[in-house]
Amino acid sequence: MRKQFAVIGLGRFGGSICQSLRKQGMEVLAIDTNEDKVNKFANVVTHAVVADSTDENTLKSLGIRNFDHVIVAIGDNIQSSILTTLLLVEEGVKHITVKAQNDYHEKVLNKIGAHRVVHPERDMGVRIAHNIVSKNVLDYLELSDEYSIVELMAGTSVSGKSLIELNVRAKYGCNIMAVKRGDEINVSPSANESLQIGDVLIVIGADKDLTRLEHALF
Ligand code: ATP
Ligand code: ATP
Ligand code: CA
Repeated sequence: MRKQFAVIGLGRFGGSICQSLRKQGMEVLAIDTNEDKVNKFANVVTHAVVADSTDENTLKSLGIRNFDHVIVAIGDNIQSSILTTLLLVEEGVKHITVKAQNDYHEKVLNKIGAHRVVHPERDMGVRIAHNIVSKNVLDYLELSDEYSIVELMAGTSVSGKSLIELNVRAKYGCNIMAVKRGDEINVSPSANESLQIGDVLIVIGADKDLTRLEHALF
């Protein structure tokens, strides 16, 4: 059976989640208090309804507990976001992902039982900042406060060199998990093979080590 998702709040973030879930073939119920937003998404999602998610009876009548995953993408109204999340937790929804507006909001969401709290503006800011500082840093994924995964594009300073020559693990304490070349992805890169310009290295390590590596070689 296809997974059933509900997305509450059809701003830019919620709207984009709806579109991407549909593209992946998922069933999506879209909910918003704003009728214009709901009409706009009527053709995108499986079902779109005008409803206020802070109303417990409304959520019950939509059968919200039966959805595999509910995403709360209410933007600026933090109070509504918190109340909605609380009701979803009380209904026993198995997976609840909520977009947080700030650190305080995030803390409350975690306390009341949201399973995952996302912070797209802040996280995208971090990713873009790394990309701006070095154009060879393509992407950046935070694993914890200390550890991350980065995608680094091989330029002239590493091309023609092997992993042994670069000695990344010993010198920078980072591991190259995979190397992408065109459409091919090699998940156990050989230590002897030479890198080429345009290869994308997927590297895992401590932030301070990754920063040293980025600055030295990319
Ligand atoms: P984003 O920040 O995601 O880019 P945005 O800033 O446009 O988008 P908002 O407009 O603040 O986000 O909120 C997203 C949507 O949430 C709005 O369309 C709003 O109508 C809807 N919304 C707010 N409160 C509720 C509620 N209680 N029930 C359902 N939808 C709600
Ligand atoms: P180690 O104990 O560090 O694995 P090794 O001599 O057994 O050393 P080799 O596979 O021969 O390992 O690689 C020599 C060096 O090349 C490593 O110490 C490391 O610095 C670098 N290296 C090889 N593969 C990687 C990788 N995937 N990521 C980062 N560095 C690597
Ligand atoms: Ca917003």
